[in-house]
Amino acid sequence: RLYNEVQDLKGNIKVYCRIRPFLPGQSMKHNIIEHIGENGELVVANPSKNGKDNHRLFKFNKVFGPATTQEEVFLDTRPLIRSVLDGYTVCIFAYGQTGSGKTYTMSGPAVLSKEDWGINYRALNELFQITQSRTSSIIYEVAIQLVEIYNEQVRDLLSTDGYQKRLEIWSTAQPSGLAVPEASIHPVKTTADVLELINVGLTNRAVGATALNERSSRSHSLLTVHVRGTDLVTNAVLRGNLHLIDLAGSERADRSEATRERLREAQHINKSLSALGDVIFALAQKSSYVPYRNSKLTQVLQSSLGGQAKTLMFVQLNPDVDSYSETISTLKFAERVS
Ligand code: ADP
Ligand code: MG
Repeated sequence: RLYNEVQDLKGNIKVYCRIRPFLPGQSMKHNIIEHIGENGELVVANPSKNGKDNHRLFKFNKVFGPATTQEEVFLDTRPLIRSVLDGYTVCIFAYGQTGSGKTYTMSGPAVLSKEDWGINYRALNELFQITQSRTSSIIYEVAIQLVEIYNEQVRDLLSTDGYQKRLEIWSTAQPSGLAVPEASIHPVKTTADVLELINVGLTNRAVGATALNERSSRSHSLLTVHVRGTDLVTNAVLRGNLHLIDLAGSERADRSEATRERLREAQHINKSLSALGDVIFALAQKSSYVPYRNSKLTQVLQSSLGGQAKTLMFVQLNPDVDSYSETISTLKFAERVS
C-alpha cells in the first residue's frame, strides 16, 4: 500500500463540521457559535434565549471555524483521497441547509480562482499529480461521471444529447462496477479537462429550471472519479472510486408558503436525506441490516458505502441566529451519524 494513512478507531466514517464565515453585509452580533474546541467540540448558543438551556455541546471528529481556508480543509482530506489509489472507495458528502457552504466546500465559490478551489478540483489535481509522476510500473487512468438526483430521478449532467433521460441504477454485481452505467464516462488528464466538464454539467443543470441556484439546492449532485491502475509488469488491475457529493439543502419547506411542486421536492429531499442518515447510522452501529433500498441516493451509493469504503461527511453550518432552528436540526442529523 502506498498511502494507508487513514485509520480510525471509529471505523470508516468521519464527520467534520465546517462553519462558514459571515458574508459581507451580515451583522456579526448574531453569531451562535460560542466555542470551537481542539478536539472537535462545538458549543452553540441561542442568543435570543436567556437562561441555562441556551448552550448546547456537539462533538465531531473535527471542527473547522469560519477562518479555515480551502487549502487547510483539503490537507485534512488528502490522505483519504490518496487512498483511492490503493483501490479504496471513498465518499465525501456535504450536508446542510441552503446557504451553509456545501458547494463552497465541495467546489468553491461561483467565481472561481485556483486558490478558492474546493475539494473536488483539489482532489483531482492531487490524483493527476501522483498518477502522472510515473515512479512505479503502474499506469493510471482517471475518468469521471457527473449525475444529478432530482425528485428521485437520476440524470446525466454530462450527456451531450439526452440530459432529460431518466437513468437506471444497476445492481452492484455488474462487471463494469458502475452503479449508473448509462451515465456518460469521461476520461480526464488535467484539471482543465475537469473544469470544462463541470461547466457543461452546470449548464445542463440549468435546463428546465427557473433559476440555477433554486434547482441546484433541491437536487443532489454526484461527481464520481474512477481510477484504474494497471501494473505493466504483472498486469494486475486495481480500481478505486471517489464520490464527491453536494447534497440537496436540508431545510424544511415552509408549509404556509410552499407550492405543491416545492412540497413534492421537499418530500423527496427529506426521504433521501433520512435514508442516507439511516444507512450511515446502520454502518456506524455495525448493524447486520443496512437499509440501502429506501432512496435513489443510497441505491447509487450502495456498493460505495460500507465494507472497506471510507466515508467523510462535512456538516455545514451558517453561524447566523436566523438559521438557529435549521442549524440545530443539522446538528441533530450529525449527532446521529457520528
Ligand atoms: P450551499 O451550497 O450550502 O447552498 P454555498 O456554498 O452556495 O452554500 O454558500 C453560500 C454563500 O456563502 C456563497 O456566496 C459562498 O461563496 C459563501 N461561502 C460559503 N462558505 C464560505 C467560506 N468558507 N468562505 C467564504 N465564503 C463562503
Ligand atoms: Mg449549493
